[in-house]
Amino acid sequence: MKKSSRILLTEKEMPRQWYNIVADMPNKPLPPLHPLTRQPIGPEALAAVFPMELIKQEVSTERFIDIPEEVVDLYLTYRPSPLFRAVNLEKALGTKSKIYYKYEGGNYSGSHKANTAIAQAYYNKKEGIKRITTETGAGQWGSAMSFACHHFGLELLVFMVKVSYNQKPGRKLLMNTYNAKVIPSPSTMTAAGRKILEQDPNSPGSLGIAISEAMEIASQDPYTKYSLGSVLNHVILHQTIIGQEALLQMEKAGDYPDVVIGCFGGGSNFSGIAFPFIRENITKGKKTRFLAVEPSSCPKLTKGKFMYDFGDSAGMTPLLPMYTLGHNFMPDKIHAGGLRYHGAGVLVSQLLKDGFVEAKAKMQRECFEAGVLFARSEGILPAPESNYAIAGALDEARKADIEGVTRTILFNLSGHGHFDISAYEKYFENNLPDHELTDSELKESLSKVDFPD
Ligand SMILES: *Cc1c(COP(=O)(O)O)cnc(C)c1O
Repeated sequence: MKKSSRILLTEKEMPRQWYNIVADMPNKPLPPLHPLTRQPIGPEALAAVFPMELIKQEVSTERFIDIPEEVVDLYLTYRPSPLFRAVNLEKALGTKSKIYYKYEGGNYSGSHKANTAIAQAYYNKKEGIKRITTETGAGQWGSAMSFACHHFGLELLVFMVKVSYNQKPGRKLLMNTYNAKVIPSPSTMTAAGRKILEQDPNSPGSLGIAISEAMEIASQDPYTKYSLGSVLNHVILHQTIIGQEALLQMEKAGDYPDVVIGCFGGGSNFSGIAFPFIRENITKGKKTRFLAVEPSSCPKLTKGKFMYDFGDSAGMTPLLPMYTLGHNFMPDKIHAGGLRYHGAGVLVSQLLKDGFVEAKAKMQRECFEAGVLFARSEGILPAPESNYAIAGALDEARKADIEGVTRTILFNLSGHGHFDISAYEKYFENNLPDHELTDSELKESLSKVDFPD
């Protein structure tokens, strides 16, 4: 009988714990610092904006953390997510290598972001919070939070970067459908927004400004908390459900990856698929490689500096030890909106520094080309962000063929691109410019960081 290319787990087989890599890291991450005193901050410094249970997870050293029953219930509406062997993509490439992908686009939000949105909404609800504020750029994170908050009976206020608000009405309407309130940022609702508008009434906004607005509202009301969709340790913890499932599915397939690949914005989908496999390297001597693929126009991992920097542009977060391009960095307007973040999560930054993880930067046209080949072979239109992972996987397969070896490749297909069809239109019209960050632009941006070394 022909083997199916779709490898599924039963509901029962879905892991009931998240994996915390801190427990297994040889070098533990450096602590977050207070921006003024430069002393390590304690959990209480975060209590104004995050619920206690998420703060505990943020600083936890426990290896496995139980997934609450209510979160499991909602996960089971779309998890376990399928793992596919990309047989038709392999044929189209003519490669001898085996390519597998984990598909995280098959849920209400269309991306992996639902995995943490559900958990974050749950913990806030449990601690008596009534309302959550957050920011969104391209709109995937806002969509993920909208349904999760409505499900648990929380209000959601989303500050959406104004230029995206105007360009992507579909995402805004999806959030409204899930009952969220969406405000274009900068807005007159906050002091941070009003200050920007005074200087420039036509400001297109930025993720940094939107974060400041969302945090300002949350810090003023004890029943309102703030929520972030990537970068932080607790977000990455929730995403490890992806890799935990993939470990079991690869075993079902009778295979094991030589290389695991993810696209990289702040690091949550990459870490989510990679960390459970990195554990196998650390504890069982496996030799898998881990490859994060980022845009050449926003290359924090390949060109950024490992240093303490803010997580947001306005400087409201603690100082975090990470690879960064500088918190004021303004990336070029590439279409993979979810990858336009100046920094990288603390855990993955330390693992990159210690040689557990490799990184590579790619131009957007090559990534769209890879995404179109994937769509025509596998029948899924990838999110522009996910195209970077696909391009990384194609590189690995082609390289293996040249070297005369067969490689087992696993990548994370972080989301679908149904709301990003106009980016594909631009690609087909040959109207998607490539952009690579220059050394002088990088130097300029890093020079603005007040906390060198
Ligand atoms: C947000 C997003 C990303 C990038 O964020 P990470 O935290 O690096 O995963 C990648 N792919 C999709 C589909 C996204 O929505």
